[in-house]
Amino acid sequence: MTQLIHRNLRQTPPAAVCAFGMYVRDGEGKTYLDGSGGAAVSSLGHSHPDVLAAMQAQLKTTAYAHSGFFTTDVAEELAARLAADAPGDLNQVYLVSGGSEAIETSLKLARQYFVESGEPGRRVFLARRQSYHGNTLGALALGGNEWRRKPFEPLLMDVARVSPCYEYRERPAGQDVNQYTADLLAELEQKILDIGPKNVIGFCAEPVVGATLGAVPPTPGYFKGVRALCDRYGMLFIADEVMCGMGRTGTLYAIEQEGVVPDIVTLGKGLAAGYQPVGAVLVRDHIVERLRAGSGVFQHGHTYNAHPVAAAAALAVQKLIQRDCLLGAVTVRGATFRRMLRDAFGTHPNVGDIRGRGLFLGLELVQDRDTKRPFDPDLKLHAAVKQKAMDCGLMVYPMGGTIDGRRGDHILLAPPFIATEADLGQIVARLSDGLARALEAIRP
Ligand code: PLP
Repeated sequence: MTQLIHRNLRQTPPAAVCAFGMYVRDGEGKTYLDGSGGAAVSSLGHSHPDVLAAMQAQLKTTAYAHSGFFTTDVAEELAARLAADAPGDLNQVYLVSGGSEAIETSLKLARQYFVESGEPGRRVFLARRQSYHGNTLGALALGGNEWRRKPFEPLLMDVARVSPCYEYRERPAGQDVNQYTADLLAELEQKILDIGPKNVIGFCAEPVVGATLGAVPPTPGYFKGVRALCDRYGMLFIADEVMCGMGRTGTLYAIEQEGVVPDIVTLGKGLAAGYQPVGAVLVRDHIVERLRAGSGVFQHGHTYNAHPVAAAAALAVQKLIQRDCLLGAVTVRGATFRRMLRDAFGTHPNVGDIRGRGLFLGLELVQDRDTKRPFDPDLKLHAAVKQKAMDCGLMVYPMGGTIDGRRGDHILLAPPFIATEADLGQIVARLSDGLARALEAIRP
């Protein structure tokens, strides 16, 4: 039988036949409230007329022009806008088709930068355990998510790894948070010294960890420390904002809240809010200047770089975020949502942690709140919650992080920025129901 290959090879998901605002409807007429924006993608909700109009207008003028031959006004305008809103001199923008492509681009750009700087010995990337930076081979190699990497391990480049900044699970009981942060930075510095600073290209991390762990913010000062180490050893700091960027945490770039400027920022998901597949890489001036003055070529490229319709969608999304004051809405609604989650799950015996920023919140599910003991990974509680929530008409994003090499259970909540208080209340109510059903289903 000829068929579309789905992620789950044994089960065909319901068909989405119509999506509007906060809802997606399937072929049976059942509607699902979008509590996660898919995977933190649909920040404007579905079928926003202004985005559709912008895409249509672009389709009518130039649907496609290969970036090896032409540029387009719309791609130039998007790049200028992203750069103008970015911190520091992140003024150079490379447009791609998604998050993994953005990560691949950043890895190659960073490497080429050092080759053209006369430091070809720099060939090691540093990243964190339990991280996820995409599914192509370079991005998968960068990520530290063991179960995702496992089948492909022999194909992956070596990446050096340090601990994530994951206070709930990794800060030793009774340790001061500043000491915890200092220890993490000391570990990072020791790793750099072990490898040899002249061999390191850079360090990549998500400012707020979305993928794998479900909305884990950094401790105060962590990224200031990372920036200082990168400066001290001449390495690049790559901030992966594919999931947490573009307003999700209440500022356009999540790293703004840390008061540092990365050398490279990767974007995806919320950039065009799902209306088109698009990603971007923002780069500090001096890096691109080095290549411009050197070989004059960035040795990279994809057929759909700077796709005009994708750029039109992203530009329309960015304009709407500003026009409708959605960053403010994310902050205000995020605080409300967090309060609602605390009211509903603050004393729940199986919810160990409620965390995140803005409308980027996560729950960590545990068997025992006091000891933080996770559920047996074979029970796949996170997947059960996703399924039971779907039964209750709700989309939430399940994550199996890794705890001591075992998978843990995390639920990511990332509703569209247009969510009303009533929508958020509904998400919490349906999640409550879905979680109860999932716990019931895994009970022996
Ligand atoms: N980086 C992060 C932090 C992500 O969350 C993801 C996707 O979930 C990616 C990179 C890869 O993006 P994409 O799935 O668009 O290739």
